Amino acid sequence: MTACQVVNPATAEVIRTVELTSAEAADAAIERASAAAPSWRAVAPGDRARLLRRFADAVDADLENLAQLEVANSGHPIGNARWEAGNVRDVLHYYAAAPERLIGKQIPVPGGVNITFAEPLGVVGVIVPWNFPMPIAGWGFAPALAAGNTVVLKPAELTPLTALRLAELAREAGIPQDVFQVLPGKGSVVGRRFVEHPAVRKVVFTGSTEVGKQIMAGCSQQVKRVTLELGGKNANIVFADADLERAAATAPYGVFDNAGQDCCARSRILVQAEVYDRFMELLEPAVKGVVVGDPGEESTEMGPLISAEHRASVAAYLDGAAPVAFTGSAPEGPGFWFPPTVVTPRDVTDPLLTEEIFGPIVAVVPFSDEAEAIALANDTEYGLSGSIWTSDVGRALRVSRGVEAGNLSVNSHASVRYWTPFGGFKQSGLGRELGPDAVEAFTETKNVFISTEGNR
Ligand code: NAD
Repeated sequence: MTACQVVNPATAEVIRTVELTSAEAADAAIERASAAAPSWRAVAPGDRARLLRRFADAVDADLENLAQLEVANSGHPIGNARWEAGNVRDVLHYYAAAPERLIGKQIPVPGGVNITFAEPLGVVGVIVPWNFPMPIAGWGFAPALAAGNTVVLKPAELTPLTALRLAELAREAGIPQDVFQVLPGKGSVVGRRFVEHPAVRKVVFTGSTEVGKQIMAGCSQQVKRVTLELGGKNANIVFADADLERAAATAPYGVFDNAGQDCCARSRILVQAEVYDRFMELLEPAVKGVVVGDPGEESTEMGPLISAEHRASVAAYLDGAAPVAFTGSAPEGPGFWFPPTVVTPRDVTDPLLTEEIFGPIVAVVPFSDEAEAIALANDTEYGLSGSIWTSDVGRALRVSRGVEAGNLSVNSHASVRYWTPFGGFKQSGLGRELGPDAVEAFTETKNVFISTEGNR
């Protein structure tokens, strides 16, 4: 076994050493999960629901501890971290209602009775990125467990602490050890075993589009089920008829939340040309007002980036020709700090407008009319999310229908509500998480015909 050092990104200090799971240990865990699958699927729906609710209650009782762990491990502001832990609790409660509602159909056929069953898949492998360790884990494991599957979950190397705590809480709640296992380790070792081991029947992957393509290619070898939640290059479109004050005041939240390390970050702001100057005047104080600093402070709105390496990759985006319009503040000293930054690229092929930066940099560009706004918004390989600011309901609907993205908000930057579906168009992903239909994605439909006539 090798170990990795977990670093607090706000201080650059090592806070814990975590053992990394080897390929052999991952295989053994997958095999235990496979052995546990028949008894877990046989648990009566009401009892499975009760266990998930007890898990939710255990998360709730531990909410402050989980949130503080995430502050230390991920540098998320404490208010955000509490929301993230609360999201796991809520998602568990939401999917706890599913076991008793997983019903098949009776379809009329001549000569007999035809029924369908929604059957669990078996073992589900959940691979989680470092940017939202708790919610993204929950979006995978809660519906998978509810549908009667067992779960092996791999957190990102940089951020394993809350997932490990969630595994302890599951155990305290009475979920059997082999039904939900957390395996910290490398993607190229543990994640790879999820893709290659035949006992894993589905992989739920959230992460970069580049790795997502490898996962999809690997899963294709066994026609393994896969859900992919990948990158985004989302547009925040501001029309001249919008409430400009509100659009500008909320734009920093739309992109700088989680220091821009958010697949839904609106890292392009498209502004109708006639209000561009006014919008920039309003945006500047809003950006300068973002409170960046100690994530443990209640008033902090933005923390550090996850690592020195990631900060260097974000900073490299400023090496090009695009002018920096203005920046907010960031602390000096240890920790991987980067200020909220607004750039105004002149060229539509600038990487600032085409690549997922995953940091607190936003590019602002003008557009002339509705058609150009839609064309610019769609001029990307991604299609995850976006915002449309307008006071014209017809326009809001036309543009919503025109933008190729899975999650849009009008006069808002909300992207995630656990009871509504979430996922991407184009290279932002495959399949949907959350919402009422997510449980079905963890089942196979079996059709059974019973002859009543002795016919063939
Ligand atoms: P990443 O792709 O580098 O890693 C994601 C996870 O995959 C990690 O746990 C990693 O260990 C694992 N992994 C890496 N290589 C692997 C391999 N060959 N086989 C199996 N597993 C492997 O992504 P990241 O840097 O951790 O996260 C940032 C990315 O995640 C961004 O692109 C972001 O947009 C995306 N993301 C998407 C969503 C969404 O819901 N669409 C949500 C959050 C983050």
